[in-house]
Amino acid sequence: MLNILLFGPPGAGKGTQSKKLVEKYHLIHLSTGDLLRAEVMANTPLGRQANDIMRKGLLVPDEIVIGMIENKVNANHGAKGFVFDGFPRTIAQAQALDNLLKKLNMSVSKMIALEVEEKELIRRVLQRGKELGRFDDQNEMLVRSRIKIYQSETLPVAEHYKKQGKFVAVYGIGTIEEIFAKICQAISS
Ligand code: AMP
Repeated sequence: MLNILLFGPPGAGKGTQSKKLVEKYHLIHLSTGDLLRAEVMANTPLGRQANDIMRKGLLVPDEIVIGMIENKVNANHGAKGFVFDGFPRTIAQAQALDNLLKKLNMSVSKMIALEVEEKELIRRVLQRGKELGRFDDQNEMLVRSRIKIYQSETLPVAEHYKKQGKFVAVYGIGTIEEIFAKICQAISS
């Protein structure tokens, strides 16, 4: 099984590269951001709870996102593997994921961290906000605070997987194909 964590700040290209990984390796894409946005759009109780938090650019509580990931992993037992996109974002989420996979006799194969300079991240996210109308991508202040939260709360997750010898950094500027080729190289190395 191939279980890839696609890691990086908002705008690093995780969604774009996830789609390509899914196609090439026949994996299941699990994006907690997409799952949460679907709950918000469907106006479910969970979505209403997440909505306020997401509009402030803060992280949704660990137990909510961990529960969502557990449901999806358990619903896809026959899968060849998963691309986790935007998860784990805290050390507690990383530990929960490691435990969940262990219970199922699986483990994280690699964490691929997409690295992009802040100015370019902001440009990309605001562009995506215009193109896709994502409610949390349209305000520069909010994008900046999401990047700050990534730096303070999410970056330590990289250390967690570095310690396990599973971390690989990939420079996320270039054409989509160039970056994808580097990711595939990192996976097969
Ligand atoms: P994303 O689409 O991954 O940029 O996520 C959009 C928003 O959803 C984030 O700014 C958070 O508010 C929330 N979110 C997504 N994934 C997580 C996660 N793993 N942990 C906590 N909050 C999350």
